[in-house]
Amino acid sequence: MPFVTHTFAGNPLDRASDRRSDADWLAGLLGAAGARVLVMWNGAPLLKDGALVWLDGGLAKQLAADEEHLLFLGLDGGDGVFALDLEGPADPAEGPLEGRGAFGDLRAAAAELPIPDTGLLSTARSLFEWRRRHRHCSVCGQVSKSVDGGWKRVCPACDAQHFPRVDPCVIMLPVIGDKCLVGRQAVWAAGRYSALAGFVEPGESIEEACAREVKEEAGLTVTGVRYHSSQPWPYPSNLMIGLIAEVADTEARPDFNELEAVRWMTKAEARELIEGRIEGLSSPPKLAIAYWLIHDWAFS
Ligand SMILES: [Zn+2]
Repeated sequence: MPFVTHTFAGNPLDRASDRRSDADWLAGLLGAAGARVLVMWNGAPLLKDGALVWLDGGLAKQLAADEEHLLFLGLDGGDGVFALDLEGPADPAEGPLEGRGAFGDLRAAAAELPIPDTGLLSTARSLFEWRRRHRHCSVCGQVSKSVDGGWKRVCPACDAQHFPRVDPCVIMLPVIGDKCLVGRQAVWAAGRYSALAGFVEPGESIEEACAREVKEEAGLTVTGVRYHSSQPWPYPSNLMIGLIAEVADTEARPDFNELEAVRWMTKAEARELIEGRIEGLSSPPKLAIAYWLIHDWAFS
């Protein structure tokens, strides 16, 4: 079945998860002539002329504070593809990487880069953020060690293994007949309306999370849930699960702690929102799954 590949998905590499526990194999790949390494500084990618900048393995090794700052992204044919995590206040593009490009905001870059590149960047950003936040064993508190090219941490004291987390979120468009409900949060750009969203909680199915969030945020009863598509969202590591939520009636009772406003739109109005033809209102950006939820329902 064909499926949609959103921004921040579409990583084209073979992740070689069955081989990446072999440190010698990874070291050989990094040292080989075909190795290439993308760079992020505090979560921002290195770009030049609107494209990702690639370093060779030797330079990346020189610049890495330690081997934990190098992540194995996967294989492109026989070549190893890695990501380098640079930290600290000093801009490396004004130091050791001078002349090679500039570090730019990930979201702005993602709106312009080819989808497969955004998949590589979201993978790298999520893994680097996970490492930053999980340096210690959550069982015993010892400093843990990165293995498997950055995809696992092990505790030298208690042998616990720690894996990068993915946090599932439901994001849904409540619909009934020819109408859908969009909402806005006060922190969003003025006039922006989007789908509703929230985290899936332990012990909850996707459908239950969808029904709970729609009830909490809009006061509406969900009677049916249809899957649309999903999107990795590397802030730091969410998986947005896009849904169309059939609701029982149009008696919305929004929770104004979560939403500043909601509004019902007909399909014709939702199409105008998507096309930017409603004065003072705007849709989510195209790189967000919410745009495609509204778009695909409105044009169905
Ligand atoms: Zn431990």
